[in-house]
Amino acid sequence: MARTIETKMTQEDSAIESSLRPQNLKSYIGQAAIKESLDIAISAAKGRGDALDHVLLYGPPGLGKTTLAGIISNEMGTHIRITSGPAIEKPAEMAAILNSLQEGDLLFVDEIHRLNRQVEEVLYPAMEDFCIDVIIGKDSSSSSRSVRLSLPHFTLIGATTRAGLLTAPLRDRFGLIYRMEFYSVEELTQILMNSARLLRVDVDLGGAKEMARRSRGTPRIANRILKRVRDYAQVRYDGRISLEVAVEALDLMDVDRLGLDHADRNLLATIIEKFDGGPVGLDTIAAAIGEDPGTVEDVLEPYLLKNGLLMRTPKGRVVTESARIHLGL
Ligand code: ADP
Repeated sequence: MARTIETKMTQEDSAIESSLRPQNLKSYIGQAAIKESLDIAISAAKGRGDALDHVLLYGPPGLGKTTLAGIISNEMGTHIRITSGPAIEKPAEMAAILNSLQEGDLLFVDEIHRLNRQVEEVLYPAMEDFCIDVIIGKDSSSSSRSVRLSLPHFTLIGATTRAGLLTAPLRDRFGLIYRMEFYSVEELTQILMNSARLLRVDVDLGGAKEMARRSRGTPRIANRILKRVRDYAQVRYDGRISLEVAVEALDLMDVDRLGLDHADRNLLATIIEKFDGGPVGLDTIAAAIGEDPGTVEDVLEPYLLKNGLLMRTPKGRVVTESARIHLGL
């Protein structure tokens, strides 16, 4: 299947990304409601000398879930262990990770919806009662028995693109559940100005605003755009990113005034041209554009839905009048 959407990062991307991650709640821009609630929960837990409640962060990629997990660790003053759903294949591996944690430690599980069922079941007693059941002897033999091992009080931080992908028993065990929102142009402008300072890129406010407007409400995309516009400014101009330079560079990158890229426009245009504007089902659209339905739903659609370019109806997806006007179709 053709992959039109960049979901993988290069090593350079992830190195720069780590260097741009804010380290504490104060320097984390946006997500005001989440920050306030977390601030209270963290202060309360610290005041009691307790571990923080388990936290679930959900929302599209690049909105700052991993960053927030790192910040929680800094604010709590505890260690963080980072893993992901697909990386843990066996219940024993999960049990070993849990067993290695210390009192108050954080365990960050990215893509937590991709844990398999048996591994997930190890988490239930671990999250609820801070213990795991270890089976001794062969699984099927009558001589096998299980012993309960107690665990230190730890905090699980789960991240997922959609809360609906989690099983109910897992979701119910999180005390703090936060939906990450897309960032406003003002917030992204601030993030871009900070990143430019750290990367020593010369950007004026007009240039930063233009990049912010075209970043799909997503800090990761904003930082990626900054790097590419920086290159353009350096090669074609004197290195300074002004409004004009940003517009030129972004037009060349095929990112339009609403921040839509080729993949977004292709999705909307396909629905208009091949399906008469909809309603059309997710799998049909995905097949028509050669994408995986999960990617369409988690990566492409949320921004289009939020901006009123696409609607979800019981019969399927429908393109709106604003999308037709935007595309001139
Ligand atoms: P996710 O885990 O949701 O996919 P990340 O936490 O990896 O997203 O964020 C991607 C990048 O975006 C980070 O490296 C960081 O540089 C930047 N970023 C995310 N959220 C913020 C924020 N609130 N303020 C500043 N930068 C942010």
